[in-house]
Parts: sequence; structure tokens; C-alpha cells
Amino acid sequence: MSAHSEIDLKTAARRGLLGRCPCCGQGKLMRSYLKPVENCAACGESFGQIRADDAAPWLTIILVGHIFLPLAFMVDVDWMPTWAAVAMWSLCLAGLSLAILPRAKSLFIAVLWQTHAPGYTPVELVEPA
Ligand SMILES: [Zn+2]
Repeated sequence: MSAHSEIDLKTAARRGLLGRCPCCGQGKLMRSYLKPVENCAACGESFGQIRADDAAPWLTIILVGHIFLPLAFMVDVDWMPTWAAVAMWSLCLAGLSLAILPRAKSLFIAVLWQTHAPGYTPVELVEPA
């Protein structure tokens, strides 16, 4: 039985969202802001071959542009100058985007790992060159 079938999708997604290895939940999944680790430092599971592609920016745009941006229009900022309101909301939404993007990427890597989605090839199945 492989590690993939022992870990359910919900657990893998939760671990990924927290930036942890979806297999063991101990090692870090990202080595820098948007770069996944090649292998988990704790369990050795391989993640370097998994490509999340545009999924993380897509989710970030959906969350920020379709949920948080409309909420910004509900907050009354008539007391501040327009330029200050635009600057404040721009900074808030940019910061929110920067916070969501790496979490979305690690979430998608965890889901791709657990589901063996197309494009994912387990290392043990890769023929040596
Ligand atoms: Zn691990």
C-alpha cells in the first residue's frame, strides 16, 4: 500500500494548506516563497516533479477578486480622501494576494500528490536515463 492511498484527500489538502508535507505532515513543502522542495526532509517523499502550473494564481484571483474585493466596497471609507482609500485597498488586496498565493500553491501540490493527477509521475516509476 503506497503512502498516497493511506492519506486521504482532506488530510493531504489540510497539510498542504499549512505548507507541510502532505505525506507525513512534518517536513516543509516549500523551500522558498513559491518553490516546492524536491523531497520532504522528514519522510523523503518526492514533490519536485509536481507542477501546479496556473492553479495557484487562479485560486488567488478567485478569492481576492471575487470575494475580498466586493467586501471592500461594503466598508465605508467616505471619511478619507479617495486617493488614500485607493492606496489603502490596493495595499490590503496586494498583501492578501501575496499571503494566499504560496498557500494555494502548496494546497494544489498536495492535492496533485494525493490524487496522482495527470502530470504527476511517482519517482519509483520513472525509468533511469
Ligand atoms: Zn514528509
